[in-house]
Amino acid sequence: METISLYIHIPLCVKKCAYCDFASFSGHMEQRDRYVQAVCREIRAQAAFFGRRRIVTVFFGGGTPTLLSGKQIQSIMQTVNDCFDVLPDAEISMEGNPGTLNMKNLRAYHEAGVNRLSLGVQSMDDSLLAAIGRIHTAKEAEAAVRMAREAGFENLNLDLMYGLPGQTAQQWRDTLQKAIALKPDHLSCYSLILEEGTPLFDSVNRGRCAPLPDEDAMEEMDALTMRLTREAGYAQYEVSNFARAGMQCRHNIVYWECLPYLGVGLNAHSDMDGRRFYNPQSWEEYLEMAERGDTVRKEEGGGSRTERMFERMMMGLRQTKGVDAVRFARDFGVQAQDVWPETMGEMTGKKLMASNKERIRLTQRGMQVMNGVLVSLMEEMDSKPQTDD
Ligand code: SF4
Repeated sequence: METISLYIHIPLCVKKCAYCDFASFSGHMEQRDRYVQAVCREIRAQAAFFGRRRIVTVFFGGGTPTLLSGKQIQSIMQTVNDCFDVLPDAEISMEGNPGTLNMKNLRAYHEAGVNRLSLGVQSMDDSLLAAIGRIHTAKEAEAAVRMAREAGFENLNLDLMYGLPGQTAQQWRDTLQKAIALKPDHLSCYSLILEEGTPLFDSVNRGRCAPLPDEDAMEEMDALTMRLTREAGYAQYEVSNFARAGMQCRHNIVYWECLPYLGVGLNAHSDMDGRRFYNPQSWEEYLEMAERGDTVRKEEGGGSRTERMFERMMMGLRQTKGVDAVRFARDFGVQAQDVWPETMGEMTGKKLMASNKERIRLTQRGMQVMNGVLVSLMEEMDSKPQTDD
């Protein structure tokens, strides 16, 4: 049976960041134990339903998983190990907020098997950190990296954000340089997406904060990201992700390759055995469901053959290595070139796409206009009748 990945959602935060629309809450700290027990119960219920699968990666995401104590993470990992076969070389990642770390917990996470830490540093500029509502300073981020190394973490990612209100290319350069000087093994550099309904969306639209950088400034920041990471020895392997050799995030690659994963915890999504489903987003609804030992989840659409073919391209093309053409043909019974003859021909002619028998990928220039490529793929697919869903 094929291996799976496990995602564990910890929806707790000290305070909501101004740009955040993730499923996370401040103010449930006193219910941490209850939540951990509910997650453990759900893990047992899912294992009873799907069987004892082999797990290749585990990812504690959030929210802020580092708000849980070492003991709480150990109890979740104990349950995972009791219910599944976690492979000896599994990647076990945890997201952490630099404002929530302490040495005792870090050592306990590491002892529990967590072997990769991903720190949400976002910026090394205190005024920008304050503007987006982060709870930590740049100094605390530096201290967090030192603590993580001392606690034994040999695989460390820093999450950074650019395109922040009022941010200049010079400020982004400074953040990148300071982050690189901390010698992480992996860097994720995301441009800010202004989500409707967040406080930052309102502030920007009502002119209550500095405007977002314009297109020229964003291009300069994109170029800085590519140049400074490359010069420091990080290879881009996905639109926003850069790693030292062998340090790519194996869990995220599972998503980009459209491989199976099980999500547990509030609002966690899963793609298992050809079924897609997700857990409730409401705190009480999730806890009650998990406490009943319920595995009835909300089924999600998006599972038709046509949708899956498009999704395989959309996710795979995010990676510099592109889509596995052989696996595509095996899984869908058709070559990608026969599904999208016009778009692939046109994109190849424009040198935005390159393909051979094994892989279909975007060129560096193609990566920069990825959204346009995806729209063309979708339009070509929609223009033909799909009868085999
Ligand atoms: S720490 Fe992360 S999950 Fe929590 S509010 Fe901030 S961005 Fe959202």
